[in-house]
Amino acid sequence: MIVTKFGGTSVADAAAIARLIAIIRQRVDERPLVVVSALAGVTDALLDLARRAHSEEAAALDASLESLVERHEQIARTLPGAAAAFDQIAAEADELRSELTGVRDRSASASQLDAIAGRGELWSSRLVAAALAGAGLDSAWVDVRPLLITDDRHTRATPYVQVVNQRARDCLRPMLEAGKVVVTQGFIGSTARGVPTTLGRGGSDFTAALLGAALGATRVEIWTDVDGLMTADPRIVSSARTLARASYDEAAELATFGARILHPATALPLVRAGIPIMILNSTRPDRPGTTIEPEAVLEQVGDSPIRSISWKQGITVINLRAPRMLGAYGFLRTLFEIFERHETVVDVLASGEVSISLTIEDRTRLGVLLRDLGELGEVWVEERRAIIAVVGIGLRNTPGLAARVFNAVWPANVEVISQGSSSINMTFVVREEDGPDVVRRLHREFFGSD
Ligand code: ADP
Ligand code: ASP
Ligand code: MG
Repeated sequence: MIVTKFGGTSVADAAAIARLIAIIRQRVDERPLVVVSALAGVTDALLDLARRAHSEEAAALDASLESLVERHEQIARTLPGAAAAFDQIAAEADELRSELTGVRDRSASASQLDAIAGRGELWSSRLVAAALAGAGLDSAWVDVRPLLITDDRHTRATPYVQVVNQRARDCLRPMLEAGKVVVTQGFIGSTARGVPTTLGRGGSDFTAALLGAALGATRVEIWTDVDGLMTADPRIVSSARTLARASYDEAAELATFGARILHPATALPLVRAGIPIMILNSTRPDRPGTTIEPEAVLEQVGDSPIRSISWKQGITVINLRAPRMLGAYGFLRTLFEIFERHETVVDVLASGEVSISLTIEDRTRLGVLLRDLGELGEVWVEERRAIIAVVGIGLRNTPGLAARVFNAVWPANVEVISQGSSSINMTFVVREEDGPDVVRRLHREFFGSD
């Protein structure tokens, strides 16, 4: 069994779905489970609808919804045999319409947002299942929500792995073993009571990994719009190079610090079983892509001591100066209890004797966080920052690396510097507007091109 996950651009239109069919046809003997994202742009469009729902005219909303439905139907019309999906697409649209009516009086709650945002995957999976059947493959559509049970932290729900393992095995294995090409959704799940949830943006990769681990798949393929994990985001560095192999740690590190190519939690379910992840380009399926595996022999990229650079914007730096930190044990615990209480993840931290700087991405609880941190000392905040992460193997033991990094970055101002404890990353903070340029300069310094 293998898991093949197709991201938004890999199911964006009829031509993309035709490529998906060709990829799956080649893999039928390997018993593929197909996990799909919503068509490119649809999740954004749905969230936009949900936000507009309580302030806008019903007619305008209806027009937007109709154009989404039309986009799906148009694809179904183009692909041989896929018109069978029409009724299902219409039924999903009807449910969505009533969900939108539910948020007319007041703005959408997190649980309403999840129900609405999740429709994109239901649509796309209906379309893909019908198109596969139309192409003569024995396909079956499965609603992942009753299998992918999560907690109720809407918009960023955490799966209950043991329940998922059991249910995914019970439901999917017999179908796959019977030779069916099973098509299901990424990104969405439900609580034990059946209320729809989502795993957070980009979460389809995580779904593919969870199901791959549950089924003991031989590999998880992530089909996307670039050749694999690269030395930098190719949208920023046009000469970025593809890494043939990567380790789980490396991939997780890059993803955590902004490489959107992979959801940060993807490697997690697969590590224990050592199931490899392959990142592949759905428009160039002949290319080798990147293999992420436990025993990866990581080759150097040219003569560079580093292997890749990523960046993440929308970062807030919180600085705390607390003289009572000096020589006091338990201080950090108190500090982190505040972040825990307000469910806010800290990405990077650097500390001195009486001061500490931390970065956060999620600002929803910033107000209360600052209030509570203010009890510990003097607090100030820097906004619109970006984290730059330089990832490589054994960075801590590479003499002169930091000097080379900071020289290359100059004249951008470097703010919070942290050397990862895993010795595979070095992170620092710059102003958001300097981010892309800093990435390009680092790429030129270490890989000779930008
Ligand atoms: P999908 O819809 O297939 O899930 P995403 O848009 O989520 O695709 O992720 C693919 C994108 O990730 C690429 O188009 C690329 O711009 C971006 N990206 C960021 N960092 C990297 C990197 N280091 N290597 C490859 N792609 C990257
Ligand atoms: N469609 C979802 C999103 O846009 C999930 C995914 O693409 O992985 O975030
Ligand atoms: Mg993605």
